[in-house]
Amino acid sequence: MIIKQHYGRNPAGFLQHIHVEENCIDLPYTREILRRSGLPYAVILDRAEPALPTGDSHDPFSAGKRHLLLCRNRGQFFKPCPGTSEYRCCSYHVLNIGMNCPMDCVYCILQAYLNRPWLSYFVNIDDMFTEMEMVLKSDPKKVYRIGTGEFTDSLALDRLTGLSPRLVDYVSGKKQIVLELKTKSACIDNLAGLSHAGRVVVAWSLNAPAIMKKEELRTATLDQRLAAAKQCLEWGYKLAFHFDPIIEHPGWRQGYEETIDLLFKEIPADAIVWISMGALRYLPHLKKIGTDRFPGSRIFYQEFIEGLDGKARYFRAHRTGMYKVIYERLKRQASAKTCIYFCMESDEIWREVMGFTPEEKGGIPAMLDRTVFS
Ligand code: SF4
Repeated sequence: MIIKQHYGRNPAGFLQHIHVEENCIDLPYTREILRRSGLPYAVILDRAEPALPTGDSHDPFSAGKRHLLLCRNRGQFFKPCPGTSEYRCCSYHVLNIGMNCPMDCVYCILQAYLNRPWLSYFVNIDDMFTEMEMVLKSDPKKVYRIGTGEFTDSLALDRLTGLSPRLVDYVSGKKQIVLELKTKSACIDNLAGLSHAGRVVVAWSLNAPAIMKKEELRTATLDQRLAAAKQCLEWGYKLAFHFDPIIEHPGWRQGYEETIDLLFKEIPADAIVWISMGALRYLPHLKKIGTDRFPGSRIFYQEFIEGLDGKARYFRAHRTGMYKVIYERLKRQASAKTCIYFCMESDEIWREVMGFTPEEKGGIPAMLDRTVFS
């Protein structure tokens, strides 16, 4: 627990080595990160792969979490979230700041998605802001909910990168954007004292206590996450929470109810703009990776079916059974203004659990936009 509390406040403290692409070494931002980290670093050729110690080859993913590559993003920074047409998605946009994260969740989809074990962080952030400007100017009436937490955790490396103040400063002047910083850490120090103009939502993924304790390594404890949320509320930020992935496990009902009750005990309901729910789903080959890396975990030993998007999911009756319990508990305590929604579920599930389909309320994007843009 002490280790968890320690890394929860600063997951970047797990890093041991930094690798820098040659073309990035002279950027003032790279120098700033290296200075702040105090870690040893090696300059490598552009597009070369960092050398990981050979003794780490039995579990490269664990070893890779101690290595950070500072490099250039040569592709797009800003993209629509890769939802699938088979399920209802929320039309989120992803700002791709880097890949992988120093925390380690048994169910993390990145283990199956990324083909490199180390963490990457893109230091050409001037290009990122230039790209954002072009996107916003191309359609000045369009509004965007943007998140940086798709391929990494939004705040896990923030003590090193100092990115969040730059992002908050940028979006505070943009009426077209609401930025969501989504995390499982309690690394919020850089958010203090910023003028965010109400354009920033700080969000935490929450789970049942047993899942947070056993399946989410080096993340913040529930108490730390809620204390951090409370602090962000005092600094004027909007808040959001994500119950994702919801995992069936012994005592799941009491576990989720306990977390929800504590959430509403600590956080005023009207400070929360949205709460999402999503049951565990994963690319089929994640099961082998997860069970090899975490032999003590039981989360993949349930009955799953292949969903329309090719991912393994619980049977529909299992999903709706859990969703109904969690939704009922949330609904009882949430503000009427908070948007409670499913991440990637069908109209049938919406109707069965919530009694309506998203279309009846204008669609998920409009439901979420109303909570932050009105
Ligand atoms: S915190 Fe998020 S990105 Fe990091 S390991 Fe866990 S699920 Fe993956």
